[in-house]
Amino acid sequence: MELHVIGCHGGETPKHRASTFLIDGTLAIDAGAVTRGLDLDQQGKLEACLVSHAHLDHVRDLATLADNRCQMRSAPLVVAGSKATIQSLKQHFFNGVLWPDFSVIPSGTPGRSTIEFLELDDEVPTVVAGRTVRAIAVSHTIDCSGFVVESNGASLAYSGDTGPTDRLWEVLDATPNLRAMLIEVSFPDREAGLARVSGHYTPASLALDLKKFRRAASTPTFLYHIKPLYQREVETECSRLTGLSLEVPRIDDVFRI
Ligand SMILES: [Zn+2]
Ligand SMILES: [Zn+2]
Repeated sequence: MELHVIGCHGGETPKHRASTFLIDGTLAIDAGAVTRGLDLDQQGKLEACLVSHAHLDHVRDLATLADNRCQMRSAPLVVAGSKATIQSLKQHFFNGVLWPDFSVIPSGTPGRSTIEFLELDDEVPTVVAGRTVRAIAVSHTIDCSGFVVESNGASLAYSGDTGPTDRLWEVLDATPNLRAMLIEVSFPDREAGLARVSGHYTPASLALDLKKFRRAASTPTFLYHIKPLYQREVETECSRLTGLSLEVPRIDDVFRI
């Protein structure tokens, strides 16, 4: 599969974009930058968006994406996430006040809506945009899921926003065809207290957790969600970690998984 980095930071400036990764041009993971990073043609080709959790830096571009696709008479966009995440999107985002409820506004497909919400049961393999997706609960301040996306016998993992966690690493350890991981790291080690209360990794806490995964040395690990203020500091700390396959991707990088 082709992994296109649309946004890979834990905040936004003109040089940093919030989280969005694109698989084979049709499946987005998180929507922090899905309209600021994709042109209209690319937005129209999306079939689904996996949403790790309801925090704004992961969902905000769903607003403009739905609006654009509605005008383009695109096919329905599947928005998939845990039951709690979908409930939050319905109640707090597409609620007819903060933004129109695009799940009742027609798409270009007769009888179907611009957005179709799909609730993912924890760890139950579910087909989304032609791939098999599993959602795994991780450890954040609100309900948050990581994902394992499988396509043509290769799997890609996405951590979502998380601090130290167990189940994700157990699942990845038991996923033999795992080709790469997108793993969050947000704060430098000197901000470990802030990372702890906000449910995020620092390089040191991530390195400890990677010991739970037996193939950490050989599995390409793309680090994302670094806060813009700490970009250089976190990268320097990560560069000192040994025995791992860490890489910090840049906006518009493309990887073949
Ligand atoms: Zn979050
Ligand atoms: Zn976030």
